[in-house]
Amino acid sequence: MRLQNTLRREVHIRGTGLHTGRQINMRLRPAPRDTGIVFIRTDRSHAEIKASVTSVSDTTFATTLASNGVRVGTVEHLLSVFVALQIDNVYVELDGPEVPIMDGSALPFVTRIMECGIARQAKTLSYLKITKPIVVKEGESQIAITPYDGMRITQRIHYRHPLFGEQRLGIDITEKNFITELAPARTFGFLKDIEVLRSRGLVRGGSLENAIVLTEREIVNKDKLRFKDEFVRHKILDTLGDISLLGLPIHGHIIANRSGHTLNIKLLKKILLSDGCWEIVSDNGAETQAIGLTA
Ligand SMILES: [Zn+2]
Repeated sequence: MRLQNTLRREVHIRGTGLHTGRQINMRLRPAPRDTGIVFIRTDRSHAEIKASVTSVSDTTFATTLASNGVRVGTVEHLLSVFVALQIDNVYVELDGPEVPIMDGSALPFVTRIMECGIARQAKTLSYLKITKPIVVKEGESQIAITPYDGMRITQRIHYRHPLFGEQRLGIDITEKNFITELAPARTFGFLKDIEVLRSRGLVRGGSLENAIVLTEREIVNKDKLRFKDEFVRHKILDTLGDISLLGLPIHGHIIANRSGHTLNIKLLKKILLSDGCWEIVSDNGAETQAIGLTA
C-alpha cells in the first residue's frame, strides 16, 4: 500500500495531434487526492472526460475516450507514463481533440514530468489484486491476466514481415524499467494501413518524425531503431496505458498474444465482471467487492 501522488506543479507540453495534424497545447495540472486522471477540453466549454474504462468510445488504431459527445484521442502513451511513474491524480487540459503524439513514444512526457517532480498526497491508494486467471480470446489473439506479486506484462507480436516477424518480451512494470526499456519505444505503422487511414481523413499529423513506418520489405525511416525489438516494447507501453483505464493499480501478470487496444479493453471489462477472480486491497484489508467499480 502506498500513498497517492500528483504533480508538484503544472507542466506545459505542445505538439502535433496525430490524427488532426493540428498543434495542440496540453497542460498537466496537479489534482486533489482521489481525482484520478481527468481530461479537460478547454476548447469545448471545459468538458471533462474521466480516464476510465466506462469512457472508452473507440479502440481502432488508438484508444479514444468520450463523455457527453466530447472526445479525447491517443491517450494511451500519456496514461502509460502516469501508471509507471505512479502519478494517480492529474488534470490533463487540452485545446484540441487528442494528446500530442510527440516523437511517437512516451519519453518526451517522462522527461517533462520528471523535471517538474511528483508530490505525495496524504492518502493511501487501494489496488486490485488478481487472485485467479482471467482470459479473453478472439481469433488468433488472446490476452490473459494471472496472479502476480506486482505488475508484469508479457507480450508477443507476430507479423508476416521479413524484418521482425515474431517478437516476445516479458517485463516487470517498475519506474526504472519503464523509463529505460519501454518509454523510448515508438509507435509503428504499415504504409498500406497509413494510406487507408489518410483516405479517411485520419493520421494527418503522422510523419517519420513520430512513427516508424514499414513497407512490406523495409523500414522507411532513415534513423535506426531504438531497440532491436522496439515494436513489441511499444505494444507493452500501449497495453499498460489501456490497462490503466481500470482506475486502480493492478497486481497481476498480463500475458498478451497479438492483442491490441480492442482486446485490452475487453479484458478490463471482463475483470470488472469477474468478481471471484480479484480482491481490492485497501487500508481496511482485502475486500472482494469493489465500491464504485462498474463494467
Ligand atoms: Zn501506441
